[in-house]
Amino acid sequence: MKAAVFKGPENMETKEVERPEIGEGEILLKVFNSAICGTDVRIYTGKKTKDVRTPSIIGHETVGEIVDIGTNVVNYKVGERVGIIPIIYCQHCDACLNGLENACENRQAIGYEFDGGFAEYVKIPKKAVEKGNLLKIPDHVTYSQAVITEPLACCINGLRKSNVQLNDTVLVIGAGPIGLMHVQLSKIAGAGKVYVSEIVDHRREKALQAGADEVINPEQESLQDKVKEFTEGKGADVCVMAIGVGALVNECAGVLKKCGTLNLFAGFSKGEWSQVDPNLIHYNELHVVGTTASTRADNRNALSLIANNKVDTEVLTTSGYSLNTIEEAITDVMYGTGMKSVLTINE
Ligand SMILES: [Zn+2]
Ligand SMILES: [Zn+2]
Repeated sequence: MKAAVFKGPENMETKEVERPEIGEGEILLKVFNSAICGTDVRIYTGKKTKDVRTPSIIGHETVGEIVDIGTNVVNYKVGERVGIIPIIYCQHCDACLNGLENACENRQAIGYEFDGGFAEYVKIPKKAVEKGNLLKIPDHVTYSQAVITEPLACCINGLRKSNVQLNDTVLVIGAGPIGLMHVQLSKIAGAGKVYVSEIVDHRREKALQAGADEVINPEQESLQDKVKEFTEGKGADVCVMAIGVGALVNECAGVLKKCGTLNLFAGFSKGEWSQVDPNLIHYNELHVVGTTASTRADNRNALSLIANNKVDTEVLTTSGYSLNTIEEAITDVMYGTGMKSVLTINE
């Protein structure tokens, strides 16, 4: 089969490799679409090294068809269309037992410890099959819609941590695909106004298409002044950082109203630090939260929102890539040329 093999930073080779053999309890998936995650970009550029093997096949936002099942697989059948929930939770660590399976201390993931979806076929390990890590895609949902289920699930987790309430004002930093998912989810959750800060022109346009009420270009106008102007001096209830820039954390804390919530949603590069004025948090009684990954329930909710046409997936994605053009797909995400790059791997 054809696969894009990650050999090290900025070194990816698309070539023929052995198609995985499946054994007892395992499933073979024929991959139709895989999307490029910000994490894949950080792996590609060498900024994320934790749990990454070389050589290996990465990619964890993947949908496809079950083409083979091992013995003793229950609940799944050949021919079913499914999406992968990449994180395999241990179910017995303190985090898992406290309902935080997304933050499992022993988590493993497809696309990291196990080969992932940048290949024509992917093997789903037994423990993932047993834990229900394949989500069945309803017939009327296309693969290219379903491929954003996992990142959308992570944003649903983020929305919960941000505690967006009816009529809240939400500021999203960054209008990449993740930022636009936060825009759409905030609206679904009942936010009164959603503002987006983004330096790339075409992405500000996309933010408006995705439902943002106002957009800000922080290279030309002051984020603080604009948020004050939009909120009659009060500030935002919630600020979601959908870009991992440590230098922006203090500014983001500064645009919140009393008791507001700052969500450090995006991952930051290893070794990156932030300088924060602690009195901003102290006197304003701010909540600072982080978000990592998603639970299986978040993934089910994400797919259900897509199936119910609550989320515009078109505005979030850029298609037309293949395994042969995967490096272009990655660099386009890196430079913000398109939105979320989606590879078509089988048709
Ligand atoms: Zn992802
Ligand atoms: Zn665990």
